[in-house]
Amino acid sequence: MNGEEMRTKWNRLSAEILSGMAEWQAQHPKATFREIEAEVDKRLSELRVKMLLDVAMLSEEERWQAEGEGAVCPSCGTKLEKKGKKKRKLQTRGGQEVELQREYAVCPECGQGIFPPG
Ligand SMILES: [Zn+2]
Repeated sequence: MNGEEMRTKWNRLSAEILSGMAEWQAQHPKATFREIEAEVDKRLSELRVKMLLDVAMLSEEERWQAEGEGAVCPSCGTKLEKKGKKKRKLQTRGGQEVELQREYAVCPECGQGIFPPG
């Protein structure tokens, strides 16, 4: 996914959320302020998590392209090989658990030189 695709995806997602909320209003014309607030929060938090993950993943991809591609092992100088993605669990401030994937690379010669560093 690139920045342009991300924008397109978000436009679609937010349009769905906004029209979904308008439909909800039509079905719940007598909802209390608290009920409306809970509904808006629920819908917006879904968008929030998706945006959070998309931005984090895109940055991760760019980071790999900028620093990981062509990176060499600090011990023997061999070019690192991409080893796929490693999952990492994180919690949002709202307490939701999300899973991020990070590119992961090791040296094919000595097994060292892990990317990302640290
Ligand atoms: Zn090595």
